[in-house]
Amino acid sequence: MGWPPRRAKRRRGFPPPHVVMKGLRYLWALPASAVGAAIGLLALLHGARVQWHSGVLECTLGAAQRRAAHRAHRFPFAAITLGHVVLAATAEEQSRLRRHERVHVAQYERWGPLLLLAYPAESLWQWLRGRRPYFDNRFEQEAFRVAGGDKACEATEMTAG
Ligand SMILES: [Zn+2]
Repeated sequence: MGWPPRRAKRRRGFPPPHVVMKGLRYLWALPASAVGAAIGLLALLHGARVQWHSGVLECTLGAAQRRAAHRAHRFPFAAITLGHVVLAATAEEQSRLRRHERVHVAQYERWGPLLLLAYPAESLWQWLRGRRPYFDNRFEQEAFRVAGGDKACEATEMTAG
């Protein structure tokens, strides 16, 4: 071996494997992300804010929009993840629930659009067994186990991720 050591050759025009895998994960989650982006676009028209944060599109309602939506029962949760889109009621909740919601993002990267069926099916299964559809849902349990979480977080994140 000479000096300086030669770097492993990479074929021109081909991105490195980790970039390809990342792209495939985004592609696999894309159907769910598209649903989230459509909802985010509607929210944007009503004053929501969007930002790109650590590979995820975060859409945040303001406090006033949240109160209005809550009154209309249209946004009855603190945050929800759809693919690579996280919709949150307020900036504070977007920040507080970020780690938890990133676990759901990773679940979408594994399950892709199937999670849109698997998540509610799991909740239904838990409910049929007499257990809690949200807290005993295995996807939520993974999110709380990996990201941690306190009772305040659990109480406000509620429903659908
Ligand atoms: Zn969750």
